[in-house]
Amino acid sequence: MRCAVCKKKAEVYLPHHNLALCREDFIRFFHKRIKKAVDDFKMFSEEDKLLVAVSGGKDSLSLWDSLLKMGYNADGLFIHLGIGDFSKRAFEIVKEFSENRKAELIIINIKDEFGGKTLPELVETTKGVPCKVCGKIKRYFFDRIALKENYDVLLTGHNLDDEAAFLLGNIFNWNIEYLAKQSPALPEEDGFKKKAKPLIYLTEREIAIYSFFNNIKYNELSCPFSKKAKSHLYKESLHQMELSLKGLRIKFYKGFLRNRKLFEKAEKNYTLKPCKICGYPTSSEICGVCKIKIKAEVSEGEK
Ligand code: SF4
Ligand code: ZN
Repeated sequence: MRCAVCKKKAEVYLPHHNLALCREDFIRFFHKRIKKAVDDFKMFSEEDKLLVAVSGGKDSLSLWDSLLKMGYNADGLFIHLGIGDFSKRAFEIVKEFSENRKAELIIINIKDEFGGKTLPELVETTKGVPCKVCGKIKRYFFDRIALKENYDVLLTGHNLDDEAAFLLGNIFNWNIEYLAKQSPALPEEDGFKKKAKPLIYLTEREIAIYSFFNNIKYNELSCPFSKKAKSHLYKESLHQMELSLKGLRIKFYKGFLRNRKLFEKAEKNYTLKPCKICGYPTSSEICGVCKIKIKAEVSEGEK
């Protein structure tokens, strides 16, 4: 097969675009898909100071790599969760990535913030659901650091597969409030910085190809809690359907983006106020992370 752009030998075929590309043109295609998302949803400009939430996985590192190559001013933020070898490996990879590119990296260690406890220890002492506790903690530090260090936009590496699976889960459960909030870009408001997901037009496979072509090392270990995540089931179901219905995910997701307004009425049937302990915006008196801290200390006291 020949590259559709330069007619050199193609190295990759993208079924839902019906497009064969050589390595260099695939990389250009990848960056163009990011730029399209950035422009379509007015995510950020060249002057903005960007903060990329990096986990050590291929999505967030490919996003950071792309933004640096595209000339954006992008720093990284890594949350060390203390999940055994998984977190150790993630930390090594992210650190090496930032050093090789001389890019700024902010590191938050959960242990420093929660009296020496790692995420698994917090889950145990609070008897919480791992991914819920983890998600709450990560969101909290992403928001706090973006605000404290005065970044213009906080970016995450969510891709098309993630967003389509999240959408399917929200529809199955009729989470209208989540549907109203599910957006490629959220404006700065209520004490939160602007947020954006520049990889929404790229699939997991395309990101894997990009990371391979650019020699991006990523964490090959999976989080031991990940098997329990429901989102995997939704993602897997969509993958299965995509095998016979090419382009289903992008059609499904783009259709939602066009019709998002239908859900907007459900937005904001709650008000946010500062947490009484830490000041983080919350719909109750005390924010979720301060509640985790309180519970963890109580459990510790009872031992
Ligand atoms: Fe956190 Fe769950 Fe992801 Fe593990 S799988 S890093 S616990 S959100
Ligand atoms: Zn708080």
